[in-house]
Amino acid sequence: MKKQISLSVKCPFCGKSLMDHEELIHNKPSIKLNIQDQNSRGIIYLCSIYECYDYRTDLALTKNEIVDFTCPHCNKELNTKEECQACHAPMVSLVLQAGGRVSLCSRTGCPNHYVAFTDVTTELQKFYETFGS
Ligand SMILES: [Zn+2]
Ligand SMILES: [Zn+2]
Repeated sequence: MKKQISLSVKCPFCGKSLMDHEELIHNKPSIKLNIQDQNSRGIIYLCSIYECYDYRTDLALTKNEIVDFTCPHCNKELNTKEECQACHAPMVSLVLQAGGRVSLCSRTGCPNHYVAFTDVTTELQKFYETFGS
């Protein structure tokens, strides 16, 4: 079986951890963010496992809708000017505790997301040391 890497992320603005240790997804802490669509506000919990797209939310999201993501600590908007290469929605950018960043598409149903390590070899090595086994 492939090793599952659980990503640990923080807010790029206030630096506070976005990990929620009570709301577990696949037995790992989830990434908690505030979201807002055209009608309402809510909370989303994203699975922190690299390459897993599962999430839980209290909002009834419509497919193909662009959602505004904000930090639950400082309320700064996390959607960036960077466009999704698949659907041109804004990308949401978070900072990895281990260095580097993770970006995900703000459109529901779009699976585009990627992790950008500052230095692939050392960062991946660090992940395996910290979260592996
Ligand atoms: Zn923040
Ligand atoms: Zn997209």
